Amino acid sequence: MKRGTSRIQRRKARREKEKGWRFVESGFNHHMYQQIKGGSEGDEPGKWKHCEHCWRAYPTGSFKYNVTDAYEMLFCPYPDCEGDYVIDSQPWESVKASFSDLPEKPERGIVYMLAWEE
Ligand SMILES: [Zn+2]
Repeated sequence: MKRGTSRIQRRKARREKEKGWRFVESGFNHHMYQQIKGGSEGDEPGKWKHCEHCWRAYPTGSFKYNVTDAYEMLFCPYPDCEGDYVIDSQPWESVKASFSDLPEKPERGIVYMLAWEE
């Protein structure tokens, strides 16, 4: 194939990518987590992050990555979300500080929309 990729090749690539997801819980010692140097501030074990893509919360150290991804990025652990683990999330405490009606400890799978009061 000289020019571009065929539809079959593209489909195959997509299937490979779908198969390539790995989900990690409490992966503080995981080699992928080590690459981001332990995350960012507020990423200590036991804390929570809030994803700005899907608005859901997850415990720090929970993430997914794709074995077919040459960039070796970490993503939001929810299967249907493409949020970046580092860039697209905030520590729950920061979010909580701005939105007082949020619970002290979030729950998995709940969408916490952050709507500024008018
Ligand atoms: Zn997300």
